[in-house]
Amino acid sequence: MEKQNNKEVIKRDLVILGSGPAGLAAALYAARADLEPLVLTGMTLHGQASTTAHIENYPGFPDGVGGVELGQLFQTQAEKFGAEIEMNEATSVSLDNNPMLVETYGKIYEIKSLIITTGATPRKLDVPGEKELVGRGVSYCGTCDGWFFKEKDILVIGGGDSALEEGLFLTRFANSVTIIHRRDELRAGAILQKRAFSNPKISFIWDTVVTEIKGEDAVDAVQLKNVKTGEVKTHETDGVFIFVGHTPNSDLFTGQLELDDEGYVEVNNHMETSISGVFAAGEICDPHFRQVITSAGMGAAAAIQATRYLDELEETV
Ligand code: NAP
Repeated sequence: MEKQNNKEVIKRDLVILGSGPAGLAAALYAARADLEPLVLTGMTLHGQASTTAHIENYPGFPDGVGGVELGQLFQTQAEKFGAEIEMNEATSVSLDNNPMLVETYGKIYEIKSLIITTGATPRKLDVPGEKELVGRGVSYCGTCDGWFFKEKDILVIGGGDSALEEGLFLTRFANSVTIIHRRDELRAGAILQKRAFSNPKISFIWDTVVTEIKGEDAVDAVQLKNVKTGEVKTHETDGVFIFVGHTPNSDLFTGQLELDDEGYVEVNNHMETSISGVFAAGEICDPHFRQVITSAGMGAAAAIQATRYLDELEETV
């Protein structure tokens, strides 16, 4: 067995980083092309979609499907055709030469092609108290933490689809959900707006930002500032759920692949990145659509291109 830095060196044709809809759709297509892809799941198994309680807009499920259930179905289908799923993450990559290298906590993979589907992470407010009170009243996932807020009065920050969808979900548990938005108009789509406006447990505070989250052992209040009047006031609450967009998980690729100003991996319409043999799909390269269906579609496209790339590579050897 070859070893480097005391780690086993393993040769693979194709590695996929990430196990959300893009990663597992890529795995399914690559497996069906007989590439025996290896998926390194990353720390969020099945990606962000798995933290959504109920997905109503993925075709084929007229009654909706749970995020966890859909992720498991994607995985089962990819494994059925020979994809290997490893609960691990890449700690570094070296993409300059082919074979490229992907290093994990225990192994080094020497690979011919890579599909990056590392997704994005919920953005922070970056206000005092936020970091200190995560898990003690500050949360970025209603599905994960909602249960702890039974009969509580909570805040949701943001005005996009996530804020409204999660806010609506949180009304199952909470006594009241107050949505705080920095403008007087929501970014969220019409259906979610209609549901939120007609939900008796939901109210809104407009033109307002959170400037501090307060509490010793747990959140007990926030400081709010009205961006139009400048008025500052304290608002008591039991919890703060933050949904203010995402940051792409692209640190590993900085300096190796072309990224845009916000850190999203640049791809062309064949899901090709700036390095031959490296493809990207899903939210790591898509700040625009961010849907399970669009991510899965990009994953399939990336795998089709990777298959063509590997076929051509074979022919030139
Ligand atoms: P988003 O659409 O980018 O919305 C982020 C929200 O947070 C915006 O309302 C924004 O305000 C606000 N915001 C940003 N930074 C802030 C800050 N520092 N302080 C206070 N507020 C801040 O993000 P998202 O809601 O997570 O949605 C991301 C994508 O996923 C979208 O394309 C969305 O359609 C999609 N998505 C779809 C569904 C669905 O179809 N069911 C569900 C979830 C997400 P401004 O409006 O003023 O910019």
